[in-house]
Amino acid sequence: MLKYDIAIIGSGILGTTISYWLSTLTTLKICVIDKEHHEAMHASSRNTGVIHSPFYIDPNKKKIAAKSAFLSYDLWKTMAIQNEVPWLESGTIEVALNEKQHNTLEKYLNWGIENGLDKNELHLFDRNQISAKEPNVKCYSGIYCPRDVSTDYGILTHIVKNHSAQNKTDFIFNFEVKNIVDSLDHIKLIFENGKELITNFVINCAGGNSLNIAQKFNLASEYSHINFRGEYMIASNDHGNLVNTNIYSVPEFEEYPFLDPHWIKRSNGITEIGPTAVPVLTPETYDGCISNFRDIFYLFKYINKNTFKILSNSDFLALASKEFLSSISTTRLVNRIQKFIPDADPKYFVNKGTAGIRSQIILNDGTFMHDVLELYGDNSLHIINYNSPGATGAPAYSAYIITKLYEQGFIKLENNAKNIWNYEKLVDAGN
Ligand SMILES: Cc1cc2nc3c(=O)[nH]c(=O)nc-3n(C[C@H](O)[C@H](O)[C@H](O)COP(=O)(O)OP(=O)(O)OC[C@H]3O[C@@H](n4cnc5c(N)ncnc54)[C@H](O)[C@@H]3O)c2cc1C
Repeated sequence: MLKYDIAIIGSGILGTTISYWLSTLTTLKICVIDKEHHEAMHASSRNTGVIHSPFYIDPNKKKIAAKSAFLSYDLWKTMAIQNEVPWLESGTIEVALNEKQHNTLEKYLNWGIENGLDKNELHLFDRNQISAKEPNVKCYSGIYCPRDVSTDYGILTHIVKNHSAQNKTDFIFNFEVKNIVDSLDHIKLIFENGKELITNFVINCAGGNSLNIAQKFNLASEYSHINFRGEYMIASNDHGNLVNTNIYSVPEFEEYPFLDPHWIKRSNGITEIGPTAVPVLTPETYDGCISNFRDIFYLFKYINKNTFKILSNSDFLALASKEFLSSISTTRLVNRIQKFIPDADPKYFVNKGTAGIRSQIILNDGTFMHDVLELYGDNSLHIINYNSPGATGAPAYSAYIITKLYEQGFIKLENNAKNIWNYEKLVDAGN
């Protein structure tokens, strides 16, 4: 039977970057397990592809996420340029549609500086200055951040995976973790195909399934989750250049952890609008509502009192029905974009883009958890609710996780394998 010091479940951007740091900084025997045949088949390839500058993140509430997003920019840039990964410096404008939202932008400006951004990277423009930059955008005011970039996180994950594999990490594909036997001195992972593996420590980075895996370790029983499908529509070639910058808007419902649909410049030159946030049953329901018998099983297993609480919240239901209508009607989705790009027309958006799904943790009072959740077992770490800007922040956040594992005595930092990123420099910058 295969034996490892550390088994990471999930070869998304998070599991892969954690494996990379472990492979360079320790001498441990490491594997990354995934149920798919390739890394980054889920959220890590099915996202908006923006490297976010953390001006919209509250440094008091989400300090690590904000820092990770800020510090990771340089790491991704180096890797993208060295490997000729698409790197489109499109910039972002976050628009306010009224004075109340303008006040939010003023707050964002302060948060951005506190999160490490330079004053030259954030410009608060009035409506005329925004029109001068983007004549087809109409708004009250907007923050222009030239530092935002569009890239391809699937390709970046693939490059990190290759570096990790060169440092002797085993990537084990087509193995779905089904059950766990947690003994005092080791953990046995039992797979869907009947095979088994022994490990001393598990790092659970299973994205939309991470809560499910944590619960197999008898952890996190007080939480449940809802999955939101983000759908995109592609602008026809003739109309993608209506606006040449990413356009986001101040969220209408700040207490909900997803943004309103935006205008996106993809790194491959395509323009899209989206994503929506349609509640769906499973973390992989990319189309329709229920795709097979397993989904029905999922429905009964994961709907509990937390989910009922949120489903009886009238604000949430209003928002969910708006998202659902945007999903079934392109006109409804475009109407939301027309609030700041009035010339966007439903007939410009015929083809669907690639949908992605985010799983949001619900607390037992029926509200959403906003930050990432790190849960430790005796010989396991579970990273749950790792949502946007998770892809942006992955390299620095993973280094932070390594430091925590070291500080808690789970690992020793004793290796110095060839490094593409500088761990010590990153840790210093994060302090
Ligand atoms: C619509 C959308 C738009 C987004 N836009 C952005 C953006 O523009 N910028 C940004 O920074 N972030 C964005 N994000 C967030 C970002 O994509 C995620 O935070 C990040 O990809 C999460 O990575 P992950 O590795 O945790 O999860 P995933 O990429 O989902 O990886 C989890 C892996 O675990 C595997 N797995 C699950 N269960 C098992 C099991 N039982 N056994 C074995 N393997 C298993 C899966 O196959 C998968 O490969 C967006 C997310 C979505 C959904």
